Amino acid sequence: MFDTLQDRLQSAFKNLRGKGRLSEADIDAVAREIRVALLDADVAVPVVREFIANVKERASGAEVSQALNPAQQVIKIVNDELVTILGGETRRIRYAKNPPTVIMLAGLQGAGKTTLAGKLALWLKEQGKSPMLVACDLQRPNAVTQLQVVGGQAGVSVFAPEPGNGVGDPVQVATAGLAEARRTLHDVVIVDTAGRLGIDAELMQQAADIRAAVDPDEVLFVIDAMIGQDAVVTAQAFLEGVDFTGVVLTKLDGDARGGAALSVRSITGRPIMFASTGEKLTDFETFHPDRMAGRILDMGDMLTLIEQAEKAFDADQAAKDAERLMGGSFTMDDLLKQLEGIAKLGSMSKVMGMIPGMGQYKEQINNFDERQFDKIKAIIKSMTPAERDNPKIIDGSRRLRISKGSGTEVKDVNSLVDQFFGMQKMMQQMAKGGGIPGMPGIPG
Ligand code: GDP
Repeated sequence: MFDTLQDRLQSAFKNLRGKGRLSEADIDAVAREIRVALLDADVAVPVVREFIANVKERASGAEVSQALNPAQQVIKIVNDELVTILGGETRRIRYAKNPPTVIMLAGLQGAGKTTLAGKLALWLKEQGKSPMLVACDLQRPNAVTQLQVVGGQAGVSVFAPEPGNGVGDPVQVATAGLAEARRTLHDVVIVDTAGRLGIDAELMQQAADIRAAVDPDEVLFVIDAMIGQDAVVTAQAFLEGVDFTGVVLTKLDGDARGGAALSVRSITGRPIMFASTGEKLTDFETFHPDRMAGRILDMGDMLTLIEQAEKAFDADQAAKDAERLMGGSFTMDDLLKQLEGIAKLGSMSKVMGMIPGMGQYKEQINNFDERQFDKIKAIIKSMTPAERDNPKIIDGSRRLRISKGSGTEVKDVNSLVDQFFGMQKMMQQMAKGGGIPGMPGIPG
């Protein structure tokens, strides 16, 4: 995400390093580089123009700062301007005073609406809501089935027209879905609508009709971050044709130049509310303009990481585990649980990517072999409960069986078992009250 832009901005800032103060020529030079970087990232031209004007004005007028050197000042200005074009404050869903809250999705076909419906439903469920999906995309073959599948994955109800009744009327389905949600006491209704490959009048009319029929609390315009300069035209067409209250950016995980992300707020005046970052239902996050700016500038995104870590972390279970570990027992199941904890945060490369300053290790992170984790997990899962509890019993013939069961080689099993005993020994030393070996002052 934003890789090229990130590199280009970094190199623009690099030229400022070591300068005691910035001349007009320095500012012009850095502004020019930033401009080209943004244009190459497909940010819309008017947005770039305003961005650069603001940066130049603020950089020229910047007071001599005790705290920041000139390079840092420019970085800060660019960061502030990025936060501004991304929308400033985080915008959260406005729930209806009288449930159900109705959220309607609109956007081009392939933008990721149906996938998003599942992601949003799962996310709402995690917030303690009881969402229901309504399938009003009767245009695209399989859209209804696809919504039923993602609804099933998210574990939420899906309201869909009876199959075999012809194409059906999406407005009627929307109205009936809303009535059903009221009857069954669902407190959020997510209405998936049809998209076309390009903008067309009939599509807009249909979306506008659904909007009029269900009077949504939020209309989310779903847009593929990879569509480049087309983002402007598409967003404007939906603004005029349907109007929307917020934007969801999808496919931010791609090697997208990401221009849509940086343009859509300025072009439409509507806030970006969520970001979709992959095909899995959990690849979804609230959009925080300040954190996204930080990520673009590679200042890391510790807050997002912490938020995700908290979600993946079950405090009660962790306390129980800690107690047991402190009692000196560490089993293969504990190791498996730790690996699964990391997996819940997303891929290793994703986790690393959110840590500040990791940009310089980009290559190593991208090359990190996630399969290594999968291999270890497969090996542990091929062990019997007795073996996991007491790996000492894992003799030669058991190793052979485990390697066959997990599709690995005996040397992989050997190396895991050896590593495990090393970890177990360290845990036991900590439990004995020594603290972490080699780290005085950290009690066990
Ligand atoms: P719709 O036509 O707007 O309902 O779009 P879909 O939900 O069917 O999504 C179109 C394609 O994009 C599917 O193959 C999805 O798996 C994929 N997709 C959706 N969101 C994302 C995302 O955030 N990242 C990636 N990589 N793929 C996505």
